[in-house]
Amino acid sequence: MKKITIAIDGYSSTGKSTIAKQLAKKLGYIYVDTGAMYRAVALYALENGFISADKEEEKIEALIKMLPYIKLDFRLNEETGVAEMYLDGENVEKEIRTLRISNVVSRVATISEVRQKLVEQQKKMGKDKGVVMDGRDIGTVVFPDAELKLFMTASPETRAHRRYKELIDRGEDVKYKAVLENVQNRDYIDSHREASPLTKTDDAIEFDNSDMGLKEQFERIYNFAMRIINGE
Ligand code: C5P
Repeated sequence: MKKITIAIDGYSSTGKSTIAKQLAKKLGYIYVDTGAMYRAVALYALENGFISADKEEEKIEALIKMLPYIKLDFRLNEETGVAEMYLDGENVEKEIRTLRISNVVSRVATISEVRQKLVEQQKKMGKDKGVVMDGRDIGTVVFPDAELKLFMTASPETRAHRRYKELIDRGEDVKYKAVLENVQNRDYIDSHREASPLTKTDDAIEFDNSDMGLKEQFERIYNFAMRIINGE
């Protein structure tokens, strides 16, 4: 069967990764969560004092100098069958999903040197096709020739509710308002930054899933993919 590249971009907490994981599983493709890579760099920057939550510490030039030495890789968790993020050999999957990291990651993602490093690694991971990748610049920068491009949206409130539930389920002590603010803040930074901002390309299919169930959404997207794979 012909292998294709599937690029999924969109705003924060639009369910990109849920759809991407399901698609990859059903098609037998690799799934790459590029947000995890930006989150891991943000964790590194925070832990090593290159940035701080209150923005008082901003040693961006020093962070850029360290970039070649930051090791990021995905390793399969045999139990769950899902790849997890490792930073310098350490599993950081849990830590990178916290609000502490969500609150600084978009600032780190504006640094073009960070983007260059991660995009290069992402291109390598998808070079043989058969990949579903989600992020903010996949259809525009990483794989502009992807056979299927999706652009996911939903209202900020719907998205904040989803993310809030996720964090609470994971045992984080967060307030809904703080999550909503974070979602809106990240959307603003991600769509207004100079280096590869989040935009919908003309050839991307837009999906507003504010009122769409996961099952219906998946079926529609899977059908799009199969039509392309079958050359229809
Ligand atoms: O997808 P996720 O919400 O985990 O991404 C976290 C942040 O990483 C985004 O808000 C964005 O700032 C950045 N990001 C990016 N480009 C990507 C993926 C994520 O700038 N391809």
